Amino acid sequence: MKIAVYPGTFDPVTNGHLDILMRASSIFDVVYVAIVINLRKEPLFSTDERIKLVRECTKDFSNVKIEKFNGLVVDFAQKVGATVVIRGLRAISDFDYEFQMALTNRNLNENVDTVFLMPHKDYTYLSSSTIREIAKFNGDVSGFVPDCVRRAMAKKFRSKK
Ligand code: ADP
Repeated sequence: MKIAVYPGTFDPVTNGHLDILMRASSIFDVVYVAIVINLRKEPLFSTDERIKLVRECTKDFSNVKIEKFNGLVVDFAQKVGATVVIRGLRAISDFDYEFQMALTNRNLNENVDTVFLMPHKDYTYLSSSTIREIAKFNGDVSGFVPDCVRRAMAKKFRSKK
């Protein structure tokens, strides 16, 4: 069994994340989406809301599991028996940070390797923070996120007004 972990904030999950997840789930036997609980910044969606949205968007993926976690990604990987961490690479600007993280994680646990996947070119510029900005000002995010996320964002910003 090849088990992989796809860690991130997913605040909220976008079509870019789902593209990477789809690719990962066709390569590995099981993929854990590991949702970070403690963040330096207050997220737009709570941990439970982020989990619920990822769950809704991935209900057709039979080998994807969703968990929340705190602490080190390599520790989470070890706990679930994963030997691979999946990360998405959009542009060269992602590379520096991701390279540093991958080598740090290898240092912490040399049995865990990082595999980078590139999304479809249409998603290379997409990020959760851009989506949050667009939605905050009532812009149309329908091409960037699944419909359940679009609706959840509209509701969230209405309630904040
Ligand atoms: P983090 O807070 O760790 O950056 P994110 O939830 O923003 O977590 O992203 C999780 C992973 O998904 C990261 O590897 C990130 O590079 C990747 N990712 C985010 N958006 C996209 C996208 N549009 N295309 C491909 N990968 C993406």
